[in-house]
Amino acid sequence: MLYVSRLSLQILLIFLLGFVFRSVQAQVAPTTEYVPGEVIIKLRNQTGPASTQLFMGKAASEKSMSLKASFEKMNLYHYKLNKNQSVENSIKELSQDPDVEYVEPNYIFHKAESTGIVQTFTQEQMEVIAQSNSSWSTGGANIGLDQFHQSKAVSSLATTKPIVAVIDTGLDLNHSVFVNTQSVWTNLNEIPGNGIDDDHNGYVDDIHGWNFVDNSGSMYDDDGHGTHVSGIILSVDQDTMANPLQDSRIAIMPLKFLDGNGSGTTANAIKAIYYAVQNGAVVLNNSWGGSSYSGALLEAIAYSYSNHASFVAAAGNSAQNTDSSPMYPASYSVPNIISVAATTSQDNLASFSNFGKSTVHLGSPGVLIYSTIPGGWGTSSGTSMAAPFVSGVAIQMKVEAPQMNGYQIKSIIVSQTDTVSGLSSKVSSSGRLSATQSIDYSKTAVVDPSQPEFTNLFTENRELASTLSGTGCGLVTKLAQNPGDKFGGTSPIRGPETWYVLFVLALLVAPIAITQYLKTKTPENRRKFERFKIQSEVTMKVGEKELVGSISSISLGGVQLNAATLLENGGIVKMSICSPDGKEQVDVEGSIVWSEVGKSYGVAFQNAPRSVLYRIGEWTKALKPSS
Ligand code: CA
Repeated sequence: MLYVSRLSLQILLIFLLGFVFRSVQAQVAPTTEYVPGEVIIKLRNQTGPASTQLFMGKAASEKSMSLKASFEKMNLYHYKLNKNQSVENSIKELSQDPDVEYVEPNYIFHKAESTGIVQTFTQEQMEVIAQSNSSWSTGGANIGLDQFHQSKAVSSLATTKPIVAVIDTGLDLNHSVFVNTQSVWTNLNEIPGNGIDDDHNGYVDDIHGWNFVDNSGSMYDDDGHGTHVSGIILSVDQDTMANPLQDSRIAIMPLKFLDGNGSGTTANAIKAIYYAVQNGAVVLNNSWGGSSYSGALLEAIAYSYSNHASFVAAAGNSAQNTDSSPMYPASYSVPNIISVAATTSQDNLASFSNFGKSTVHLGSPGVLIYSTIPGGWGTSSGTSMAAPFVSGVAIQMKVEAPQMNGYQIKSIIVSQTDTVSGLSSKVSSSGRLSATQSIDYSKTAVVDPSQPEFTNLFTENRELASTLSGTGCGLVTKLAQNPGDKFGGTSPIRGPETWYVLFVLALLVAPIAITQYLKTKTPENRRKFERFKIQSEVTMKVGEKELVGSISSISLGGVQLNAATLLENGGIVKMSICSPDGKEQVDVEGSIVWSEVGKSYGVAFQNAPRSVLYRIGEWTKALKPSS
């Protein structure tokens, strides 16, 4: 009796899961933008360069893929696909390759400006504005710039200017403000215009940074965003409306990866980050982002962290809580990332600004900010404008304390904010950037070279335990918030229906949960790997039959599969398992090791590619292990 009712409940559950999953998917399917015909591949490099060579040979001869760029230190390879291959199918195919750790699309990111440049001014008009308003450069907000400019000891001018990389739309190198402050970075090891890569850094004639859009050393700004952002960074160094201007204490390295529309690719963002770090930048300003999670981009940022740089990122302009709707790169959990929200002249959160008590660190002025644009001046708004104030402060801290690492700089900036009520519970510090306090603090602080290890990248012995319990193949909302949750993404269901669906699901899931709980109590079912409760949809192939079921727990060793069908012990199942957020799926084979016929089965993975285990590790690292 009980058996029958449970079986029918489970059939109903599977039906419902499928239904809810599909409807939610249709509702929230994120518009993922990526470059058609391109992928980024992380190779496992198991047997050193030989296995990489082997893969490359295979990719070229069997799949007609052509290599566009390689990041050998990270085993990352950017490929152009054969024109008949779709990105989707190639990812499916390549992720089964034992040499591939993971493969992803070449996602597209955008500048994080909310309005575009709304007003432009001539030099004469700007001088009038600046005269009448002492905090013109911050759009009226007071972050202590005047105080810093007056106290700044020009005599302490460093012989080597610390470098801040502006990874953006480029820079107007001829703007009088940058010319007269001599603030643009110059690569002294490169001879201009000789067509030779004199310093052997892989870039020919890279005199003032690099243009990754054109793949040339010719720098310009066909959008205006990068010039505006760079001017904000310089406005921390000095009053850029003063006459005469001073020689700057900092150097700005323009790295253009966003095109004239303010859009750029992951591959070029990664190249820019590597270029910045390898050529000496210690602060990286990133006034751009997107909702696509890229493992390759994460690795590039981790590389900047291991090289002690600061990575400042705009929190984004969707008026969303990034604790639940992450925006990358700002929402990655690499410890050198400073995620910056935008505030108004009155120190309130700007209406457009993203926020997040766990994932956004502080606020900074971002509304109607006056700054340089190609050939003149203009105002613009966005977290794009807020981030460079933080970068500007971070780079001044490097002037004062050249040995300080990016992690300590972040700790100081976040702890030295001005607490403002408008940011309470909106950002982790509840505060708005204070330029004076942060820079002053760095003058006397003891330099602490230590920094926490960043272990979120996949390693075989990685810890999976964390603090969040959450479930759902895009169907059950999270039960708790977690800063590091990368796939909590778009919270799929909102409002009273959510709770109704949750309630019904809870009733339906209860018998499975109880069954599973009882199972875990029996010693023979103890497993080598930590298990996590999960609700995911799975499609299975058993022989020629295709079936749909659900997964109620998962580990790196296998899954508990619920399916109202007859499967034999020892039988082989090919599964496509959907991630808890419903955004991706992995294909893996397993054999049935125990069964409760017609209901649930234990499936042990067989020859699971490391790329699959990596994805499962990513899905579960925010979940509590089930005991
Ligand atoms: Ca060069």
